[in-house]
Amino acid sequence: MGNSAAERGLRSAREEKKMKSFDVAIDGPSGAGKSSLARRCAAELGLLYVDTGAIYRTVGLAALRRGVDRKDETAVAAILPELEIQMAYEDGEQRMYLNGEDVSREIRMPEISMCASDVSAHAAVRSFLLEMQRKLARENCVIMDGRDIGTVVLPEAKLKIYLTASPEARADRRMKELVAKGVEQPYEEVLRDIIQRDEQDMNREVAPLRQAEDAVLVDTTEIDFDESFRLLCGIIRERMEAEA
Ligand code: C5P
Repeated sequence: MGNSAAERGLRSAREEKKMKSFDVAIDGPSGAGKSSLARRCAAELGLLYVDTGAIYRTVGLAALRRGVDRKDETAVAAILPELEIQMAYEDGEQRMYLNGEDVSREIRMPEISMCASDVSAHAAVRSFLLEMQRKLARENCVIMDGRDIGTVVLPEAKLKIYLTASPEARADRRMKELVAKGVEQPYEEVLRDIIQRDEQDMNREVAPLRQAEDAVLVDTTEIDFDESFRLLCGIIRERMEAEA
């Protein structure tokens, strides 16, 4: 009793369905380690990692290439119907395509960060990208990181985390990443960009970066990557078990 193949099948389908609705929303300022921590936690826990910053970066790159005034919402909105933005997973890595071209590397150039921040302040851009993000979460169990995931994109997420660190700690980490990639940028410039982007992302009118009321605050200023990973993974695992 209760052990027939059909019942086992049903049980696993039910578990599967329950798990389908398990989403983690991670928000926070740039350079707090969201992407690398979320990617590793997702791999560890069998969830799909979705980096939403990459989508905004792709729109930022398109605006830069077309030479539109990125602060002008009407001008930016005018190019949106011509953009075909696709996300694909290849060898477990998220890749971004802009009108069929793989732009995954180009969107990581330092100048694209501010382009992404500029275009992301426009309501037209945010609503253009909203359904793409929600669809990914409907179809998969995701760890999605960004700026407004817990507040706007997935307000019903089972777990929300606000990941932050001091601007200086974030600038130090960003410097190391850039050096590893062979990109040269002075520390003062990296720190200035981080502070400027925080300002812009936190003070915009549409979907500003802020901690959702029900988000768990994780500050990684004083802890290294491995410790942050263990802490974050522990929080997610605990919530997954509670939901199972
Ligand atoms: O996360 P990342 O630094 O790659 O994001 C680039 C920019 O895209 C951010 O500074 C922010 O302005 C914007 N963004 C956003 N909402 C998201 C993800 C990113 O506004 N969900």
